[in-house]
Amino acid sequence: MASMGANQNASQFYITLCDNLHSFDGKHTVFGVVVDEGRDTMSQLKESSVNKEHRPYKPIMIIGMEIIDDPFDDPPKLAQLIPVSTDEEGDSVSTGGSTDEEHELRVCLWNQKLKGSGPYSAAIKKVEKEVEDLAKKINYLCDTDTGLAPSSQWDLASDKRMIKEEILPLALAIKFLPRKCSLSHARWKYQIQIPLPPKIDHRVTMMTVEEKPDVTCNDVGGCKEQIEKIRAVVELPMLHPEKFVKLGIDPPKGVLCYGPPGTGKTLLARAVANRTDACFIRVIGSELVQKYVGEGARMVRELFQMARSKKACIVFFDEVDAIGGARFDDGVGGDNEVQRTMLEIVNQLDGFDARGNIKVLMATNRPDTLDPALLRPGRLDRKVEFGLPDLESRTQIFKIHTRTMNCERDIRFELLARLCPNSTGADIRSVCTEAGMYAIRARRKTVTEKDFLDAVNKVIKGYQKFSATPKYMPHYV
Ligand code: ATP
Repeated sequence: MASMGANQNASQFYITLCDNLHSFDGKHTVFGVVVDEGRDTMSQLKESSVNKEHRPYKPIMIIGMEIIDDPFDDPPKLAQLIPVSTDEEGDSVSTGGSTDEEHELRVCLWNQKLKGSGPYSAAIKKVEKEVEDLAKKINYLCDTDTGLAPSSQWDLASDKRMIKEEILPLALAIKFLPRKCSLSHARWKYQIQIPLPPKIDHRVTMMTVEEKPDVTCNDVGGCKEQIEKIRAVVELPMLHPEKFVKLGIDPPKGVLCYGPPGTGKTLLARAVANRTDACFIRVIGSELVQKYVGEGARMVRELFQMARSKKACIVFFDEVDAIGGARFDDGVGGDNEVQRTMLEIVNQLDGFDARGNIKVLMATNRPDTLDPALLRPGRLDRKVEFGLPDLESRTQIFKIHTRTMNCERDIRFELLARLCPNSTGADIRSVCTEAGMYAIRARRKTVTEKDFLDAVNKVIKGYQKFSATPKYMPHYV
């Protein structure tokens, strides 16, 4: 043991080896009795890894020790280096500087002879074998292309701490995380805590209706032409993009559905989303009208960002006239916030690839109020009109809505359809519900034809003055 110099608070520690032994070679062992804080030093000793020549990569510093037994003679020059002992008992050697701060470590050197006997010898041999195997494994992994740093560069203490705090080092995280994802890191250091999902307003997230709507085309009565037109725009490019690539054309990006309220625009959009396994995002136009400047536009951006993150997605803007109205001069010289939101939609429509995974559907009852910029070819190429269902379609809609109802047999749905001229799908659904209510009121378990006739009288004839259809029809001429 030799001092490193005055007030250095450190010392050099010499272990005398056998004549033919130059370094610890896995066969020799250092035993120590550790006192108090000396445990840290001991754990460093245990964790220190060795190179191919079985030398430790990192110097190990032992501060303060007591030799219990040293069966070998010291080398001749060592005596000059060892400072005079200040310990009364003579065995404990203090390093220069403040002895109070020194950790005490009692190290017992046992030679090879001692190692061969005693109760711990088998366990020690086993541990030595394990250490040797691990060192070989590490050297092998360092040589192969695993990205494992040489053990000389390891910082086990900080790694342990990081595992405890569940923090990933930045370099590792970047390697395994997908691009463009937000990461959270501790405020005091650049270490990634957890990858975060893209920051999207919760109001936008709530717009996702379902991963796959449960409505199919069989649930839509009539609307054959409309189904074909929308499927050609939405379904075909999503299911068979190669057809468009071969021909060298870009499929239409979106469709505008227009017609009186309750004619099945939303229903059909959901049915198409079901066919394509696409996620269905429904945005009500008025949801994008926000109090603060730029907030509506930000929501539109986040909406499309969310859509892009899905495998396939149909974005359905219902009641788009709330935001897509034609631009006008408001007379005060300022930009209208609603117009800005609409322009962001136009911008996003231009921004995504027509052959990509996003399709945009818009629905309105008043197509004449929309801004022409929104409707120009290249944005909403297709315009599909949803008119009032004809007799055949009305009969079909009656059948669809009574499928799950407990009705008596042989109800003349065609007769009922005849009694509902100029009615929408929503009206017919209401008739079916009302018929069920009549049956409940009469404490019956089945719905009769009479219930339906009463319901037609109540809903179609009685509520005629509330019908929106006559008010909207002039706008489509
Ligand atoms: P709005 O313009 O007011 O949003 P809409 O055209 O989007 O109305 P939907 O929401 O699709 O109307 O329809 C309302 C309800 O009417 C649907 O849930 C469905 O039950 C019924 N319905 C409408 N059209 C049909 C149809 N063709 N076949 C079956 N049901 C229909």
